[in-house]
Amino acid sequence: MIVLRPHHILCIKQFKGYGYDNEFIKNMFNILERINKEQIIIKIDFDDICKKCPNLINNICISDSEINLLDSKVLEFLNIKLNRPMYFNEINSYLLKYLTEDTFFKICNSCSWYKKGFCDYTNFNI
Ligand code: SF4
Repeated sequence: MIVLRPHHILCIKQFKGYGYDNEFIKNMFNILERINKEQIIIKIDFDDICKKCPNLINNICISDSEINLLDSKVLEFLNIKLNRPMYFNEINSYLLKYLTEDTFFKICNSCSWYKKGFCDYTNFNI
């Protein structure tokens, strides 16, 4: 079972091999390999991506307010259900239904990766 926090369902689809450090990138590739085989549970918590992120120090995220904002916007715009195991094709159905270019902008425009130009609506292959 893969644990993801809400906004990471977008990040996983935008990932192109860049990240904070090698451990983080290796972990992202590992999750990508498993994403279509295992169930996923969406939780408001540190998740399987956070646990290899160098910004998580002593169980405190140094970008906490930015990250919490991204999670709350995903829940608001994409209607993702929390704490219920599902396969990624179900998550894709939420994206297909609710993720427009406008909602993507509203969710992601405050993210530092978006501002640096790493993420773009056209990269989604839903
Ligand atoms: S802009 Fe940020 S939150 Fe949005 S998909 Fe990219 S990394 Fe994830």
